[in-house]
Amino acid sequence: MPACPTAGKEKGPTLKPLIPVVLFVALLFNLSTAQTTLTVSGATLIDGTGSPPLSNAVILIKGDRIISVGTTGTVQVPRGVRRIDATGKFIVPGLIDTHLHLEMVGLSDIGTLPNEWTKPEKLRESVITNAKLNLISGFTTVRDLGSSPLVFQIRDEITAGKFIGPRIIAAGMQLVKKAPTQNTEPMFLEYDGSDSAREKVRYLARLGVNVIKIRLTHMRPVPTLEEVRAIVEEAHHLGLRPTVHTDVPADDLVKLAIDAGADGIEHNAPLRLQNEQILTLMAQHNMSLMTGGGAFFVQRIDTTGFIDLLDPAQTRLLPKEVQAALRRGIDSLHRQTQQMKNSGWDAKQRQARFIQEVQRARNAGVLLVFGSDCGAYGMIHGEQYKALYGESQVGSIPMQVILMATRDAAKALGKASELGTIEPNKLADLLIVDANPLADLRNLRQIFRVIKGGKVYNPVELVSAGK
Ligand SMILES: [Zn+2]
Repeated sequence: MPACPTAGKEKGPTLKPLIPVVLFVALLFNLSTAQTTLTVSGATLIDGTGSPPLSNAVILIKGDRIISVGTTGTVQVPRGVRRIDATGKFIVPGLIDTHLHLEMVGLSDIGTLPNEWTKPEKLRESVITNAKLNLISGFTTVRDLGSSPLVFQIRDEITAGKFIGPRIIAAGMQLVKKAPTQNTEPMFLEYDGSDSAREKVRYLARLGVNVIKIRLTHMRPVPTLEEVRAIVEEAHHLGLRPTVHTDVPADDLVKLAIDAGADGIEHNAPLRLQNEQILTLMAQHNMSLMTGGGAFFVQRIDTTGFIDLLDPAQTRLLPKEVQAALRRGIDSLHRQTQQMKNSGWDAKQRQARFIQEVQRARNAGVLLVFGSDCGAYGMIHGEQYKALYGESQVGSIPMQVILMATRDAAKALGKASELGTIEPNKLADLLIVDANPLADLRNLRQIFRVIKGGKVYNPVELVSAGK
């Protein structure tokens, strides 16, 4: 065995072997700084990994990717590239909403809008506006869990740069077991038997869906385990993740979703389980759970009144008739809530129960993720910060809520290698806000810039420019 060339010489460190390393690091450093196209510096970074906030952060971006993350002093800011001075501000990863509906505006019934709103061009206009409202409120990725193929079209037009909006992951029609009566609901696609179930999944894939939504409800015939399994297997075969809407509460439907191997459950049925062991099963199967707690809070529990306000972006960008209908909707929600209170419903008691339920699920190891259900009654696109704040009132601290809407949401979408945290090689999706969201999640509405795939958006400018 040849002797080591330094063997037998004086002890102590020698600089020689370090020289190539130093050169290599210098080369790498130069390469990364030379390739940088955008730097963001000076802010406090909440990177979405769960690590404590990092002061004086420096983020180097090349094209649509993050290439380096550090602090002033550890990362040199290259000269001659676009630089965003974010001193005194706070950065979180671009937010992810795992459950919304771009074709809906937040009303219980489109019938409360004038007739012309049923026209295709109106609907298209509305989806484009909703997409924009989501992006400028810091949501760089959204999952639409129930729409017509119009959303695929607009998703692709946004990708092509025709409109501004978030990355859209779209489910299209929801798969439902065939009911004896005629299916008149265009949002549903019926199957009957395992072969039919597989065929419908392939049909949706051909239409261009990115995710499969299965609806399990006692309002229809409940499918067999074989049928749901057929959907899940076919979806996985095609690289699609199936997620399940269930009634609340309904242990049997949640169990069916787990046994079939689905990737996630929508709404809070698993929080209201009689059989707690089901939570452990969900955790063992790495299933995600969109708790929907925020929407519930926003609709029922809030006592601060902030939910009543339409924000400047909504006031500027939503058509006047939609705003008027939303105001009527909000009034009606208040009346309903008042009636519930008059008949003995106690918001504080409900909140306390919700806190226990959320903590029980988290302790069992279930992956809790944020979904606003925007578009559904009372939830207006681009006002998700209300639902995020709501989550912080029902069993999660602000850091946990941020993880639900970033790292953990990305996991639920199967996109953890690309999205959800601010780390090298991830897509450069960032939200920069003026005040600390860990102090109060409502600070997420004070937006300075949104960056999606390295492209910078200034919401204030976009709102004042109108459509
Ligand atoms: Zn929904």
